[in-house]
This record gives sequence, structure tokens and C-alpha cells, in this order.
Amino acid sequence: MFFHVVLTTECNLQCRYCFGETLEDFDEDFTDFDLDYSLPKKASYDLALLSELCRRDPDCVLTFYGGEPLLCTNEIRQIMDLAKPRHFMIQTNGLLLDRLEPEYVNRFHTILVSVDGDEELTDYYRGKGTFRKVIENVKHIVRNGFQGELIARMTVMEQTDIHRQVTWLLDNEEFAFSSVHWQLNAGFWANDYARRNFKRWSKTSYVPGVERLARFWVDHMEAKGAVLRLYPLLGVANSLLLNEDAKLRCGGGWINYAIQTDGYIIPCPTMWGMKNYYLAHVSNAHPLKLKKIFVGAPCTECDILNVCGGRCLYANVTKRWNRDAYAAVCGTVRGLVNAVNTELPRINKLIADGKVHLSDFEFMKYNGCEIIP
Ligand code: SF4
Ligand code: SF4
Repeated sequence: MFFHVVLTTECNLQCRYCFGETLEDFDEDFTDFDLDYSLPKKASYDLALLSELCRRDPDCVLTFYGGEPLLCTNEIRQIMDLAKPRHFMIQTNGLLLDRLEPEYVNRFHTILVSVDGDEELTDYYRGKGTFRKVIENVKHIVRNGFQGELIARMTVMEQTDIHRQVTWLLDNEEFAFSSVHWQLNAGFWANDYARRNFKRWSKTSYVPGVERLARFWVDHMEAKGAVLRLYPLLGVANSLLLNEDAKLRCGGGWINYAIQTDGYIIPCPTMWGMKNYYLAHVSNAHPLKLKKIFVGAPCTECDILNVCGGRCLYANVTKRWNRDAYAAVCGTVRGLVNAVNTELPRINKLIADGKVHLSDFEFMKYNGCEIIP
């Protein structure tokens, strides 16, 4: 089992797609759900309970999450001194990565660091100076011996040219990332669709960009014999190559859970405070016996559910985007699946010729990359 350990609800950034949207959505109607708005700002349960949890599941993985988890370096040290999961991971905005000593940082199996692309775009979404500080910190941890997987985690919306920004992250003079994942800011807020240009952008920019990226990805395999870790492409290709049906690919609600700051266990960190989805409490939960929750309609009636997996439990449950808007997001999923499918004959040939191997498409599932953006 994977657990996002939400250490704090606070963040030291005010990104457009998160803080900005919170302000815009301030007076929206979310009354269908019984919500707890009074969660403690920091983890308020006995952190030793996490060691107990890990003892009950020898394969358990703990991922520090927030808000910004590195606002809680003391708690991170405390947990890492006590608990013995199979792996520790962290999802961070990267601004405070230099605050944690190498003896801890170097124990992370994976660090997902938020960066949206080049300096101009990252600073546009996340605030001036963010990019520079994050890149300094990423270089700092690598200099200090971090050898785990470092994943550039992009949030993507209408200002993003996906092909240009992903290829920039892979090859630039600042810091070349070897792993990239991206997530669309789509379906998470109630009022944003009407004032955005999502549908048009997704058709005219995003999907063509993903198709171009898929071609670039396989061109690179041909030229270099290496499979770049572009997670949305990698995850879909892996399933298609193995002919495997996917469940919700982030794992939310069935293999990947979150522990709120008050200790309640929920299907995913975005579902904080949704009392109907409190599944257990960290004080008495058995990781292997947690209730499993899966997506409902419209995903259950969808012809590509077996490849998509349902994209997002939170979006599926809350339906914050109406039917048309939801369908626009599904259009991006179809675009991704088609793009990979189109390249599949070339990939199969490269495998048959021994240029790349099936094992090159393996990765640790549920590592925080949702696969379907
Ligand atoms: S494409 Fe859309 S409807 Fe189909 S499974 Fe994915 S999210 Fe659900
Ligand atoms: S994709 Fe949706 S369900 Fe999965 S972790 Fe993200 S917000 Fe939660």
C-alpha cells in the first residue's frame, strides 16, 4: 500500500491553479458533501502510529505530502527516524529542499518536484523567482549525493505548450530532468471552466502536442536505444504492451491512500475533509484491509475505461465540471491513448529488434505519477 502522509495543509507558494482558484471558488456551492473545514494545519496525531502502520504492511510506501511537506522538516526527520516502510518519497514544490540534510534526502526513493517547464512558464504559474530557487535546490541535492529518481512534476493548463515544455525539461542548460510527469488542471474546481479556454486549447494545442511528443519519444528510442521516462506515455505504453487492464492509475482509493493531518485515512489527498470518505483512522487501520473505492459513471460506461482507468476519483465523485467539460477532459485522454497506440507498431518493432526492451517500460506504479494527466 501507498500512503500520502499529509504533514500540513499550509503552503509557501500561491500558485495560480491552486491558491488563485481557491480565491475564485470561494463562494461556490459544495453542499452535496459533508465537509470538515477545521482540519488541523499540521499533523496532530502521534507520528509513532505511522511505524505501526508500516509494521502491518511490509511493502508500505510513505510519501510526504502537503500543502508543502518541507514546512515540516522536524516531523519528516521524526518519521524517518522511526518508521520502516519499504520506501519513503516526497512531493514538494522544491523551495525548501535545502533545509533537509542529505542523510534524509538521500534516503528518498523518489522526489517529485513541481516545475512546470522553463523559467518563464514556471514563474508565470508559480510566482517570480520560483524556478531559480527550485533549480538551485535540485542541483544542491544531486551534489549532495541524491541518487533516487527525481521527477519533474508539471501542472499543465492553457499557457502550456506541452511538447515544447516537456522537451525543454529533458534538455536544457539549467538542469536536465530524466523523468517528467504532467497533470492537467482540469475538473478540480467548480467555477473555472466557464472562464477558461480549456476545450479549444486541448483540441488545438494539447492533443497535437502530445501526439508530437509521442513521435519524439519513439524517435528517441530509435536514435538512442533508450526509453525516456515520460510518465503518461510510459504508463499507457506499458499497459498496451502487456495487454493489461488498468484500474485508476494513481491508485487513489484502492492501493494509494492519504492520511489527513487529523489521522483519518481518505482515498486521496485531494479528498481531504470529505467525511463520507473517511475510511479508517491511522490509530486502528490495517493497511491491507482498507475499503476500496472505484470510479462510477460516466467512467463505468466508457469504452476506454480499461486503458484510462478512470483518470481521477476526486473529479469523478465530485463532478465539479459539468458533463460537457468532463467530456472535454476525456478528449485529452483519448488523444493520449491514440497517440501511444499510433506509435505502438514502431515500439513493437524496436523491441523485436532488441533496440529497446520490454523491461525499459517498467516503473514503480503509484509513485505519485497519475499517468493519465
Ligand atoms: S476517458 Fe473519461 S469517461 Fe473514460 S474512463 Fe477516462 S475519465 Fe472516465
Ligand atoms: S488523480 Fe484524482 S484521485 Fe488520483 S490522486 Fe490525483 S486528485 Fe486524487
